[in-house]
Amino acid sequence: MDISSSFHDPALCRALLDRLSEELDALGRGVRFMEVCGTHTVSIFRSGLRSLLPAGLEHLSGPGCPVCVTHDSEVAAFIRAAEKPNVIVSTFGDLLRVPGPDGRSLKHAMAEGARVQVVYSPLDAVKLAADHPGDTVVFPAVGFETTAPVIAGALMSARSMGLSNFCIIPCNKLVPPAMRALLEKDDARRIDAFLLPGHVAVVLGLAPFEFLAKEFGRPSVVGGFEPADILSALCLMLDMLRRGRPEVGNTYVRAVSPEGSPQARRVMDTVFRVADARWRGLGDIPKSGLALRDEWRDFNALERLGIELGETGHIPGCRCGDILRGALSPDQCPLFGKACTPQNPTGPCMVSTEGSCAAWYRYRGA
Ligand code: SF4
Repeated sequence: MDISSSFHDPALCRALLDRLSEELDALGRGVRFMEVCGTHTVSIFRSGLRSLLPAGLEHLSGPGCPVCVTHDSEVAAFIRAAEKPNVIVSTFGDLLRVPGPDGRSLKHAMAEGARVQVVYSPLDAVKLAADHPGDTVVFPAVGFETTAPVIAGALMSARSMGLSNFCIIPCNKLVPPAMRALLEKDDARRIDAFLLPGHVAVVLGLAPFEFLAKEFGRPSVVGGFEPADILSALCLMLDMLRRGRPEVGNTYVRAVSPEGSPQARRVMDTVFRVADARWRGLGDIPKSGLALRDEWRDFNALERLGIELGETGHIPGCRCGDILRGALSPDQCPLFGKACTPQNPTGPCMVSTEGSCAAWYRYRGA
């Protein structure tokens, strides 16, 4: 039996949807839950779950798309790096079309002669550096706790290979501090519970999310990415709300253990230290990002190329910041489906396949 098919089983999903309705009836009020993972965003839209959820159960997307939360000043730095002589920027494809504050993207820089190479993993970027010893290969390090260990591993490989022409622009971000910042903002009154990110929890385990229940009283459940996974997580979330007992739960037990992956965290901690970070939509958040440790500073492209993450403007008219806080839905952005489409995106939430605007456009229509 193909185990993955059971997570799509219509009868199972129907039963879980019925249970959600019963839980909501017993609770006697509406509930807004937020997911903070781009893969959940896409999965909820693509599977049609969003339109099947019972009335009164509202889905919000939060700051879970790594490309979308990358700040304008960071995107501007990627483009400036690409414009330097003898530099190749090697990047995940998602970043290629993300506009900086002046509307230009890495793709525009490429058209003007910059050397930008799409790679599928940071190790491909290391190989690119080995193949181009006369150039500096710069990898924009975006993503959350899921990506950071892989990037750290790539830096360790580069060092062991004696490569001095590989470096990164360190922009990795940490999910739990962003969730705390979100809850401390006014918008958070609108959020009753969280669907926690499965991939990030594989690395972190459950403990870093405990504050959501203990300090803020928000039931929070780690869920997988198939329809039945998501529905099971929502059932547990509503059960906690009905019982008035907020906890951190886990319905993705086939992938997530309570302790997470100490090995992945060890690799990450070898190379990175926790630092303040700047998020699109959430601003400056203390201890919400990763900087290179002093002994890895040689790999910092910003220092090497003399680039500063200074103040920048924002993309005119784009409301991605509000969307990443769940304060606005994509169709409430005046540019949605008009000036901004996946073919001609104005902001990162329409560029990235994991962005809310792109998912909304693709699966609900403009
Ligand atoms: Fe930004 Fe486009 Fe989304 Fe509006 S529709 S918030 S312009 S990405």
